[in-house]
Amino acid sequence: MTDAIKEQQPFQAEIRQLLDLVVHSLYTDKEIFLRELISNASDSMERLRHVEATEKHVHEPGLAMEIHLTTDETARTLTLADHGIGMTREELAKSLGTIAHSGTKAFLDAVKASGGAPNKLIGQFGVGFYSAFMVADKVEVFTRSWRADGDELVWTSDGGSGYTIEEAPGQTRGVKVVLHLKEDQAEYAGEARVKRLIETYSNFVGFPIFLNGKRINEVEALWLKNKTEISEDEYKAFYQFAGKAFDEPAYRLHFSADAPLSINALLFAPSENPERMGFGKVGGGVALYCRKVLIDEDPKGLLPEWLRFVKGVVDSADLPLNISRETMQDSALVRKLNSVLSKRVIKMFEKEAEADPEKYRAFYRKFDRFFKEGVATDYANRDALAKLLRFESSMASAGELCGFADYLTRAKDGQNEIFYLVGANRDSLENSPYLEAFKARGIEVIFFTEMVDEYVVDALREFDGKKLVSIRHAGVDMESQEATGDSLDAAQTTALCEFLKAQLGDRVTSVASGKRLVDSPVIALVPADGLSPQMRQMMRAMDENYKDEVKVELEINPRHPLLRKLATAKDSNPELAGLVAHQLFDSALIAAGLLEDARDTVSRMNTLMEKALG
Ligand code: ADP
Repeated sequence: MTDAIKEQQPFQAEIRQLLDLVVHSLYTDKEIFLRELISNASDSMERLRHVEATEKHVHEPGLAMEIHLTTDETARTLTLADHGIGMTREELAKSLGTIAHSGTKAFLDAVKASGGAPNKLIGQFGVGFYSAFMVADKVEVFTRSWRADGDELVWTSDGGSGYTIEEAPGQTRGVKVVLHLKEDQAEYAGEARVKRLIETYSNFVGFPIFLNGKRINEVEALWLKNKTEISEDEYKAFYQFAGKAFDEPAYRLHFSADAPLSINALLFAPSENPERMGFGKVGGGVALYCRKVLIDEDPKGLLPEWLRFVKGVVDSADLPLNISRETMQDSALVRKLNSVLSKRVIKMFEKEAEADPEKYRAFYRKFDRFFKEGVATDYANRDALAKLLRFESSMASAGELCGFADYLTRAKDGQNEIFYLVGANRDSLENSPYLEAFKARGIEVIFFTEMVDEYVVDALREFDGKKLVSIRHAGVDMESQEATGDSLDAAQTTALCEFLKAQLGDRVTSVASGKRLVDSPVIALVPADGLSPQMRQMMRAMDENYKDEVKVELEINPRHPLLRKLATAKDSNPELAGLVAHQLFDSALIAAGLLEDARDTVSRMNTLMEKALG
């Protein structure tokens, strides 16, 4: 060995800068160094496979394609060994002395741009091999290249200004990295700690990983296997492992695509909804991999927010390993992934719902909130998502769910609207005066019974070209029906309407006789662009000073005995008729959920009772 070889070689200026940042950073997730080193070992063995397939001569062919880690608490070292391609002297100097990958350069640029705050940035970029210096104050890289003329070498550095490369007889092909851990990083010489890290970051790496002689990564990268080679039990075990779940998966989507992106995805819908069980917002169910190496456990923007209940793995070979978490969120690549994945998931639900409607309905009952949230928030997928909604309706028995498509198959000829009614529960909806006319005409009305349904219909507006119309609203067009029984005639009706309008004054915008009512005397209709009672209630809950003018149209039923009597009383006993007019109107407001202050109602009621009792 000559002195010239032992002499320190200086790192390239950028590497020095990088190391300075890495060594002195207070970055807390130092543990990512292990993921980086294991992924280097794995890459190297992938490349060896390629070399073996294309080159005539490979040094020491047939070595086991395994990654071996060894911890030594006494010596405070962690060692990683692979039998990949190894490095020649030139490669060592180039790969571990100059900027080898674009991620490092991007990292430095970002640090410069951020005015020098590397802590956050390290986690976002990953600094490859050099991250070893976050935990080690001396790193040795023993290596022997696959090439015939390779030397047996050791590269050594303290992460300072440079490194040495020396002869090191006795190396097998590949790389062995020895980390001499810093005093305060001794934990990484502990077997249990390292085992957990491997399980977290590298469980699906395509080569067996051994720690102190024991195999660690038991779970295969199922998502890259052929569907036909995977059993139900394997899928289930994978779901429970990857999703940290205990239930059975309800649905599964396993697909690979090459265009527009290379994707291998294995996604599951759980059978239990933890949000419903009061566990708060779930998240982080789908991890992002690049060729079996974990990029991000909880990548932002990979799926639309409403799909947060989905669990599984997405692997895209198109992703650079060191993609930053922040740039990832708004990278075109992730947006594309998001679009492809969400469309596939929706299609999957659609198919499954068709194949087994009962199973889907049971699933929907637990997960409806997510689909509704999707319709309200995910514009791009709104129409496709609408097909997945389920609800009760006036034509189905209580508890039975149907979709818009079912509704349309039952719609009347020439019916261009989808009618719905929002209310607190099925019972109140069924007995609502709004429903009478629709019942009488055999027109189906969808029942929405949840607060969020308001937003859903507001966002949706139509389905399959048919407008969604609330039957609370004025102006719903309806064919007239033969009125049965006694009724006020046209003149009497007009006179009564005028009387009521005069009595009620500003409380109503208009009073008219309508076709809608069958059993109820009157009904309060609100304009289609106004707030619903539920919405108004919410506004009031949020702002105690909230006030708004409700414009109400009163529709009267000229066949109803009460109104027939009122028509007479307005002339014979105008005072009593006036009280009744207001009371009738209040009743209509109550039925509509619009009565805000009942004080007048109560005192008027008392007066009326007094009069009734004489
Ligand atoms: P990256 O892996 O992103 O290219 P790194 O800084 O982690 O960047 O590594 C730099 C280079 O060093 C790699 O590109 C590779 O050529 C070489 N290298 C690192 N680890 C190994 C290994 N275990 N076997 C062979 N070559 C390696």
